[in-house]
Amino acid sequence: MTSPANLRARILSVGNELTMGQTVDTNSAYLAQQLAGVGIETIGHETVGDNQPAIVQALRRAAELADVVIVSGGLGPTPDDVTRQALAEAMGAPLELDEASLANIEAYFRKRSRTMTPSNRVQAMVPKGAEPLPNTRGTAPGIAAKLGEAQVFVLPGVPYEMRAMFEFAVAPRLPAGRGVILHRIVRLFGTGESNFAEMLRDLLTDAGPLVVGTTVAAGLVSIRVHSRAETHEQAERQAQKRIEQILQCVGERALGVGEEATMESAVGALLRKTGKTLATAESCTGGLVGQMMTAVPGASEYYLGGVVSYADRVKEEQLGVPGDVLRQHGAVSEPVAKAMAIGVRERLGADYGIAITGIAGPAGGTDEKPVGLVYTALAGPNGTAVEKHLLSGDRPMIRLRAALAALNPLRLQLLKQ
Ligand code: AMP
Ligand code: MG
Repeated sequence: MTSPANLRARILSVGNELTMGQTVDTNSAYLAQQLAGVGIETIGHETVGDNQPAIVQALRRAAELADVVIVSGGLGPTPDDVTRQALAEAMGAPLELDEASLANIEAYFRKRSRTMTPSNRVQAMVPKGAEPLPNTRGTAPGIAAKLGEAQVFVLPGVPYEMRAMFEFAVAPRLPAGRGVILHRIVRLFGTGESNFAEMLRDLLTDAGPLVVGTTVAAGLVSIRVHSRAETHEQAERQAQKRIEQILQCVGERALGVGEEATMESAVGALLRKTGKTLATAESCTGGLVGQMMTAVPGASEYYLGGVVSYADRVKEEQLGVPGDVLRQHGAVSEPVAKAMAIGVRERLGADYGIAITGIAGPAGGTDEKPVGLVYTALAGPNGTAVEKHLLSGDRPMIRLRAALAALNPLRLQLLKQ
């Protein structure tokens, strides 16, 4: 075993759905990130199918190579899940029934008025000498065991259960590594990744204790700061300093800091802070803005509701868009976007009304009005502003970009208050 200064981990994912490429292995990414946070370096990942000899071999190899082995998957009650049996075989220990785990599983079914099948009993079995780990979000307990010199943790495959078990049962049992690697993220909106990279050129680095890079996902640019230091405080201070420099540089293009910083959380926080309310009128996005806004807990404080006005008749009847404006300019037009925003603001009695009308494709585009043409409007106490966008991407991407483009002017306006 290596010294505590450089503890090494190996991550093992088990499941035919993973080896066959039907499910993407997100558990390993999560686990490696968590381990980095406590100074444990992940030296390798392995994925094997639900096959006992393959799992036994992978377990033994991992235990030889690393100090900590974290396994996810294959703890289900059905015969195809054999990780528990494989661990017992690798340890050379028999499986024994753990009464406390059985009682937990029985209680889980009772609480949901479901009948426990006999096959669930197998989930209460742990190899002799191993310790069951409580599952707060499902039936299968995890297992903590020693394999050779390595500390092994076996977790359920369901990401939601796996994460809770890692946090509550594994993290407190991990041997202490030295140093920490912190990850911090700043979310940006308003220009492309390469423009941001140019803007932040002096702040991006891939050397030494600070690694700063950019990624793009779901229409937003993320700046990722990886900070390595001896102590949590040092790593935090180092990351914080760089984040402040980044924020200063990008100004109002920053949506916030942290994984949970999104356009909708930024807009929601500003609406709450200013005590203002929002209503939405959506055509080509079909309620996406409403869905995004209400995905943030506590949205009822500021989001009143919306009208999915897909058909012209609904734009007319529910939002008061004049029929002649619709006929003269077409549904995808500046005056219609404006009338939609004003209409939804008035009819729902909100401080702000947002409207979107556009062509999400793939069909329906013309030379004059191509796919990706979207008008967004913001109606507020000081009038109504319309923006024209030519968005690229497929239908889902155009819809997402339209929703972000519609929310951003509201964010900018609220920032000024
Ligand atoms: P299991 O506990 O092996 O029955 O896994 C239950 C479900 O969790 C699987 O059907 C997958 O959908 C999901 N799952 C298992 N392993 C992973 C993984 N490594 N990453 C993401 N999802 C997983
Ligand atoms: Mg499985």
